[in-house]
Amino acid sequence: MPKPVPAPDEATRPFWDAANEKRLVAQFCHGCNRYQHPPEARCARCGGENLEFRPLSGKGKVYSWQVMHDTRVRLMQEYQPFIIAVVECDESPDVWHLTNLPGSVPGLFEIGDPVEVEFEEVRPGRFIPQFRVVRR
Ligand SMILES: [Zn+2]
Repeated sequence: MPKPVPAPDEATRPFWDAANEKRLVAQFCHGCNRYQHPPEARCARCGGENLEFRPLSGKGKVYSWQVMHDTRVRLMQEYQPFIIAVVECDESPDVWHLTNLPGSVPGLFEIGDPVEVEFEEVRPGRFIPQFRVVRR
């Protein structure tokens, strides 16, 4: 069974369009000079609308993780158990992504391990960012 496909809205569409081109971007607010993710129509901190999408390096680190055994997301149930990790992007502690850490096994990586983005094709031409633990 295929995995769920993202359902972009007006604010998040540029992020998913970039992912479909295998580019990782994040929204940046010029009003308070910081990133925000996930994207929103306005900056959650200053309310400003002067936002742009900037390319990210795709590098980050594992911030936290757990193993999912009982997801309510029906399309993900056949993949159980699977890892759900939060990774923090190198550009900003405000940019977190959820990932399954493809290629990783619990016990063989640690909080703080470096990761790099890769893109998983969940439908033809539709990609989601994933992050893989790397050795630097
Ligand atoms: Zn702002």
